[in-house]
Amino acid sequence: MKPKILFVALLALLLSALAPSPIVHAQGEPPTPYYVVQPGDTLSAIAYRFGVNLQTLAKANGITNIAHLQSGQKLIIPGIEGVQGELTTREVALGDSLTGLSRALNVPEKTLERLNRLLTPYQLFAGRSLILPAAAAHKTDFPRRFLADGRPLLEAALSQQLSPWALVLANHLPGTWAAIPEDVLILPGTHAPTTATGLPDTLTLSITPQAWVQGHTGEVRLSAPSKTPPHGTFGKHSLHFFPLKAGQFVALQGVFALAEPGLYPLGVEITLPGGQTFHFQQAIPVVRGQYASERLVVPASLLDPHLNAEEEKRFEALTAPATPTRYWQGIFKAPVAPPLDKCHPSYFGTRRNYNDTFFWYHTGLDFCGRVGTPIYAPADGVVVFTGTTEIHGKVTIIDHGWGVYTTYCHQSAILVKQGQTVHTGDLIGKVGRTGRVTGPHLHWEVWVGNVPVEPLQWLEKRFP
Ligand SMILES: [Zn+2]
Repeated sequence: MKPKILFVALLALLLSALAPSPIVHAQGEPPTPYYVVQPGDTLSAIAYRFGVNLQTLAKANGITNIAHLQSGQKLIIPGIEGVQGELTTREVALGDSLTGLSRALNVPEKTLERLNRLLTPYQLFAGRSLILPAAAAHKTDFPRRFLADGRPLLEAALSQQLSPWALVLANHLPGTWAAIPEDVLILPGTHAPTTATGLPDTLTLSITPQAWVQGHTGEVRLSAPSKTPPHGTFGKHSLHFFPLKAGQFVALQGVFALAEPGLYPLGVEITLPGGQTFHFQQAIPVVRGQYASERLVVPASLLDPHLNAEEEKRFEALTAPATPTRYWQGIFKAPVAPPLDKCHPSYFGTRRNYNDTFFWYHTGLDFCGRVGTPIYAPADGVVVFTGTTEIHGKVTIIDHGWGVYTTYCHQSAILVKQGQTVHTGDLIGKVGRTGRVTGPHLHWEVWVGNVPVEPLQWLEKRFP
């Protein structure tokens, strides 16, 4: 690099450091932060996006009729301190980090933290509304690249035909030495990608649904130029990724039905063909499922929390391996024939209070049936367990691959053997009343990623 260019770049760096923060109190603007009402806005939607109480927002602006909101009207946003000027909001994209957003929008991290009352970076999850200075909101999103392990910034810059200082400036680094390996950098002066996320352009990550639900199945997909599946974690669970097609991996994971609603860390790590490692971590919100509660009074002799926990542990151990072969395809078929397939004496997830002494939830979906009603395989798989247990009676467990299992309890007869391959619709057993039950029925469980999940989802939806 010529010394003259270096001097100009250094001067620019110095000036940018001395320049005032982008949120300045321009002349004629109200001294408090405000939002300009856009066509289609409602007061409650604005209140939600800015995280303020509707009444507080109405009162701060002297609004008595919340239906009378005019496009272009300036609304004071109460409760935000130390910031002035026009504000707006945008949705946090998958992979966005505070550092990345601060770079892309040219807003100091501290300002974003203050505006969004962020206490930890984990509070920044995809889909969350992010409050921004309006001046920053229409900034173009730049393509992003990440640095290979040990690759100096100079080399990264040269490969993009950029000056290292251009990278330093665009990424608000204190100097060329400050870029750390695996850091995602913005490349100035190049065209914006069609979808803006905080991920490098070579990777596509999708997490479905955006917020995970207690007892439901979540899906993580990653497209990457790699033949080696990624590693990942969700809370305390390891994610098991398998190739869906060339360059695309998928992991399915159940959410524990009694998981405390809140934010759970999801991490994905992939090694690319060049040996570079990319690590992604972001919080996923877990929200409450719609489950009923019931109070059951059962004879004390049938209630044995210790034994229940013991059998649960046994099922957990049997459903822990994630078989690399995927046996199932498409939506599961109900394990009993119509009309019994629509008859459910009890649903999955119901919170159960036994005699006011033991609290748990219903880990499966119950189907009506008499002793002898045929039970069919809902999908292709391999039988991994048959046997009799104290509480669940005669039990069969089928492995469908990729960490997906189904279990059949209280049967009167088991018609398959361990190690046997079964196909959709095969007769595998008969409904009964074995184990601790009050009447004949089929208790059917679906396990995903070592967690019992809502079986109705698998009867209605295609995974993956
Ligand atoms: Zn049941």
